Amino acid sequence: MIGAMIKKPIIDAKVLQQLDQVGPDELELFLLNRGNYRGALLSATRMINEMRVNHNYGVLETLICGHAYLAAGLISAGLKGQDRVGIEMDCDGPAGGFVVDSSAGGSVRGYLRNSPIPVDTAPESFDTRPFIGDGTLSVTRFAEGSKQPFTGHISLAYGTVAQDLANYYLQSEQTPTAFHLSVQFDTEGTVIGAAGLLVQAFPGADEDIGKQLDTRIRNLPSLGGLIANGADSSSIIHEHFQEFEAAEVGTREVRFDCGCSKDRFARFLAAMPIDEIKEIRDQGPFPLRTVCHNCNTTYEFSASDIERAYQMSR
Ligand SMILES: [Zn+2]
Repeated sequence: MIGAMIKKPIIDAKVLQQLDQVGPDELELFLLNRGNYRGALLSATRMINEMRVNHNYGVLETLICGHAYLAAGLISAGLKGQDRVGIEMDCDGPAGGFVVDSSAGGSVRGYLRNSPIPVDTAPESFDTRPFIGDGTLSVTRFAEGSKQPFTGHISLAYGTVAQDLANYYLQSEQTPTAFHLSVQFDTEGTVIGAAGLLVQAFPGADEDIGKQLDTRIRNLPSLGGLIANGADSSSIIHEHFQEFEAAEVGTREVRFDCGCSKDRFARFLAAMPIDEIKEIRDQGPFPLRTVCHNCNTTYEFSASDIERAYQMSR
């Protein structure tokens, strides 16, 4: 029994042409102010378009879940080995929140809780606050070698992934952090550029420099827009952070990728209570369909697949 995540092909000619133009996704790591701050710039137009196609997201869903994917991709810059990090938002706005995670290897996956987001009228702006509302944000770290994951929570105070996540880092991890998350659409709702920026202070970093960096990041033009217009990560870093002594230290890969497989779902089935799996075996319906929330891949199980799972669970 094999089978792994299925990526739906991107067939929109305009998207394909734009992906050609902006080049491959890339996570560029850099240091500022002689190593007192670390930064990451993620160019991820392909990842966001692939996420959108697999999940069948509209504009608003792509915007909010796209911010979450960009954040998870940026945070992967600080992971190593088999580390993973999960970001979860639960909120009372119509979006309902999201669940995303990323690995040190740069795999990003996850989903929006409500899709389509139930709204009566088309949104008038790209302000996410009305769709998020109040709630909580949690960050869970699965560190390689440690038995228990660590989860921290914070109440939402801003209604934007970038600001609430920055607030989480400050309050929960005592690390001054700034995010800029940007999904740029054209007038027809096509994602033409997606990019994110993370800047984080190391302990003892100069607070005045921190304030200047904060202002700089708040006043940045839309990074997704810059990428859409042909800028690359390196040129963005040098143009906007030159006076903070930006020094690039390397690049990493980030992509939409889920570790799910038919085998993994078969093991879930086999782990179900014996009478439940017996009921499916006896009554069907076949094929039994299971959907991975994280990547929206459907796995089908035939009657003989279920028989095998039943025999495994006995
Ligand atoms: Zn999956």
